[in-house]
Amino acid sequence: MPMVAPLSPGSLGRGTVSYERGRDDMTITEIRVYKTPLAAVSTYNMSNSTVSTPESTIVEVVDSDGTIGYGEACLASPQFQPAHNDGVRSSLSVLAPAILGLDPLKLNHVNAAMGAALDGHTEGKAALDIACWDLVGKKLDLPVVDLLGGAQMDEVTTYHVVGISSPEVAAETAERLQSEGITRLQLKAGGRPIHEDIASIHAVDAVRRPGTDLAVDTNRGWSTVEAIQVSNACANITMSMEQPCATEAELLHIKPQLRHPLVVDEVSTDIRAIARMISSGLADGFGLKLSRLGGLTAMRAVRDLCMATRTPMSSDEAWGGDIVAAACVALGATLNPQFSRGAWLAHPYHQVHYDEANGPRIANGFATLPAGGPGLGLVLEEGQFGDPVAVYREQAKAASTTERCS
Ligand SMILES: [Mg+2]
Repeated sequence: MPMVAPLSPGSLGRGTVSYERGRDDMTITEIRVYKTPLAAVSTYNMSNSTVSTPESTIVEVVDSDGTIGYGEACLASPQFQPAHNDGVRSSLSVLAPAILGLDPLKLNHVNAAMGAALDGHTEGKAALDIACWDLVGKKLDLPVVDLLGGAQMDEVTTYHVVGISSPEVAAETAERLQSEGITRLQLKAGGRPIHEDIASIHAVDAVRRPGTDLAVDTNRGWSTVEAIQVSNACANITMSMEQPCATEAELLHIKPQLRHPLVVDEVSTDIRAIARMISSGLADGFGLKLSRLGGLTAMRAVRDLCMATRTPMSSDEAWGGDIVAAACVALGATLNPQFSRGAWLAHPYHQVHYDEANGPRIANGFATLPAGGPGLGLVLEEGQFGDPVAVYREQAKAASTTERCS
């Protein structure tokens, strides 16, 4: 029998539950943290920010026999949601030591340990959680999509962004994307006079092909009055409205007056909020991001809730490279196709690819699962991300922790 010894701190509440040490062949012994810039290839405008060069955080979670699981988290911009890429790396200084010595297969333990060590900071938790799924898949010689219950789609529908621009440019972009096989368009709006948004919505609708879905995403950018006015002005257009206002209270206020389905993104922060918004009838669907929810373990629970309640959801990145993209596609493939809003991957918007051969790529509007092997299906080389910015080792945790910068 492998040695089992409680780690400290190992107590949860008043119970006697301890996080047991991982088996000799499956124990997290080292965690390395890297950062890599992902420059946008063209202007990417949202209502509250323009994406330039986010620095993605990549983690290598190493187990006792040297197997490496990869995870990643990246925020498009610091205005986009209450998180910051430097903050992700800083949170790992607390989160990584908390899971050293644990069995990555026991994802409940891993996530409970992270939750006990640090409230919030779901992006750092997501990177470590995804890495554990990748590591476990490699150890069991199984793809992550199978660990998640199995694919219900061979190819995952993706959706593409038409950034904030003039009506003419928005229509040209929409036409180009549709000519490339894209059938789901997300038109960004907000942050300017609403007559300009209304004109862009009509311009895109005018070039829309039969079967092309349109969501207008404001990223929290309108007031309640503006959202209602836009919905009325576009009442004859079949579309959904994604996160038109900043808060759940504002969305509850406008919901009865909207002429369009309401999709909730930024304020769908955890499963409790999502359950509440489903049961109240507020949300007709969700835009969900792995990093905001805290990784694949949290997304799996939300997926099961959404599918059981027949609530459409997406499986998105907040930005990022092949690692988080592979995780999004794996989760996205397990959705009931009827209730999938697709996946959003950042790779068309930046030039950096970690695995040219196997990284998820979009063709004709669909993304396929990476086929590079078990786990997330990527082939990554030790050292390909340069020198780590921090290394956490199990032996004498605090003493062995080194950080070059945060
Ligand atoms: Mg959105």
